[in-house]
Amino acid sequence: MEALLGKTLAELQAIAIEAGLPRFVGKQLCEWIYRKHVTSFDQMTNISLKARQALQQDYCIGRITPTAEAASADGTRKYLFPVPVDSPTAKNCQMSNGNCQLIECVYLPEEDRTTLCVSTQAGCKMGCKFCMTGTLGFHGNLTADAILAQVLHFPDLTNLVLMGEGEPMDNIDNVLRALNVLTADWGLGWSPKRITVSTVGILQKPIANGQQLTALQRFLDETECHLAISLHNANAAERAAIMPAERLTPITEVLDLVRQYDWTHQRRLSFEYICWSGVNDDTAHAKQLLRLVQGLPCRVNLIRFHQSEPSATNGQQPTANSLLFPASDESRMIAFRDYLSAHGVTCTIRKSRGEDIHAACGMLVNALQTEQTI
Ligand code: SF4
Repeated sequence: MEALLGKTLAELQAIAIEAGLPRFVGKQLCEWIYRKHVTSFDQMTNISLKARQALQQDYCIGRITPTAEAASADGTRKYLFPVPVDSPTAKNCQMSNGNCQLIECVYLPEEDRTTLCVSTQAGCKMGCKFCMTGTLGFHGNLTADAILAQVLHFPDLTNLVLMGEGEPMDNIDNVLRALNVLTADWGLGWSPKRITVSTVGILQKPIANGQQLTALQRFLDETECHLAISLHNANAAERAAIMPAERLTPITEVLDLVRQYDWTHQRRLSFEYICWSGVNDDTAHAKQLLRLVQGLPCRVNLIRFHQSEPSATNGQQPTANSLLFPASDESRMIAFRDYLSAHGVTCTIRKSRGEDIHAACGMLVNALQTEQTI
């Protein structure tokens, strides 16, 4: 059954008319689903019972309840959602639940903000060597309603980062649809300045509907959300060794595109940089990074690497291993940060959250079902 969640105002008006209802029912549906966050048709009290029954024949709301939850000592919480994906393989996958895939998202409460780390795909195709999610392989794109259902489950969010499972640019149609609903006046009304979308930087995404633009161009043109680029090494050969995406699209080409956009005002460009001891955390690498981002108004976020244990993958051996990727110690990260800051690049060391529940960056592997079932 098709979900109403994820539909635009115009689409909901068309659905109302098709069901033999007045056009204004479309607006009422928007208000109930996106403003009042209802979970069932029964709650739509200003829509007649007959109209609701007509709609229920073909549609569901699309809200999803997580099946498991784990809480970290630092307040971070991780949730497992069974979501519909647009992949015919989903039904047969080991991790599937009916015709759904299981995905994780992470809730990060802080003093002054509450952020949700949202997944856009089940697993991921990008195969970054250090990332546990990459070990899942790819099991389908999340539909826009599945992306939005993660957000709607948490009423107190202030910020969103699309940095969970998956590469958002590899699922651009669903991601753009979800961002449209999130930021539209008739939708959830979020400011795009509270939403950050992350990418490894791919420009070769097959172009949908004959369009001439790459996914990243479409994201930059069609939204005002912040962009975070997963960089992790400014040396092309070293980056290619840990991130296969570099071979498809060199980071320099990604930055050639990014430089064509205005980052001097409200829109933020950031680079994510996981620090590994003796791999990418010395002054030579800081200098390369500096050269790469020269002249770009941006910030660099240094991230401490989270070493995963085999248990995080439900007993499977992880490919990201701590011998290949030893985490940098804090003093080297501070030196790296200070070098960039001294040369005019805003640089911060991101606080590590949720490691004890495998919720930190690159650790989402859908192992949650073994931890706590709701
Ligand atoms: S780091 Fe991101 S893009 Fe790379 S494999 Fe993991 S989820 Fe995919």
